Amino acid sequence: MLTSSEELSFLDQLRPDPIVLVPTMGALHSGHLELVKEAEKYGKVVVSIFVNPTQFAPNEDFDSYPRTLESDLDLLSGFDVAAVFSPPVSEMYADGVVTTVQPGGRADCLCGADRPGHYSGVLTVVAKLFNMTKADYAVFGRKDAQQCLVIDQMVSDLKMPIKLIDIPTVREVGGLAMSSRNRYLDKEQHTRAQVVFSSLQKAKSMLESGCRSAKEIEEAVVSELAVCDSIEYAEVLSVPELEKNEIIEGRCLLAVAVKVGSARLIDNISLLVENDKVTEIPLLGV
Ligand code: AMP
Repeated sequence: MLTSSEELSFLDQLRPDPIVLVPTMGALHSGHLELVKEAEKYGKVVVSIFVNPTQFAPNEDFDSYPRTLESDLDLLSGFDVAAVFSPPVSEMYADGVVTTVQPGGRADCLCGADRPGHYSGVLTVVAKLFNMTKADYAVFGRKDAQQCLVIDQMVSDLKMPIKLIDIPTVREVGGLAMSSRNRYLDKEQHTRAQVVFSSLQKAKSMLESGCRSAKEIEEAVVSELAVCDSIEYAEVLSVPELEKNEIIEGRCLLAVAVKVGSARLIDNISLLVENDKVTEIPLLGV
């Protein structure tokens, strides 16, 4: 395990193989492990584990966010991981929060509207990780769809020499997207949380039946989500720019965020709607 910039010079020994970064906040689950499996295909895998304070608002769960480094390392030992980078906050923000990366317009809606400053925190730490590891590839989960698109815009606008890969959302048997925050759910809340996936499936089947009205679909999703404790958003937006259109056509994202108990849960599906065909598609590299 590496914890400092100096120790990262170890990665030079992995050259000339490409370096593939899998950024995480730890509390690893099967979703993270799928990212690692995908990363193995492209080169030497570096997994970062860092709970990034600058992407949490003061009222959010930074202090209580699960930190399970020992079991994370155990899980990763089953994979071909060249290095785990788990720096302390003092390493990543040695001089405090000074120079930051500000996101473009893709960050204005969905989680960006509910969590001001969140994507600036994400981009700042991701840019640092890209620079520190000199990664050639980075692998992200489609579960955090807006994050994928905001990072994609940063890489493109700032001409960062890195290729991004997104993998499909890994789900539990009942459809709930795996998340480190699922451990906040008790049994009853866990059962209720499954509605998040079924609401997206409902939206998809409306599209498959020919509905193209964003408003009708959003209303149907909201009514499915009524058993949640609160709904932050349920929206259909264009991909990649995340803009609102009344009529759904082309690439789009159905995205929801809810609270069940204290857990804030997000999920989405990324679709191509063409004539009468509806297909699930990746977000990046399309
Ligand atoms: P996190 O540790 O929650 O910051 O997530 C680290 C990476 O894992 C991000 O790229 C997430 O999108 C990805 N990820 C988290 N949960 C899942 C999941 N259920 N399926 C696929 N990727 C995931």
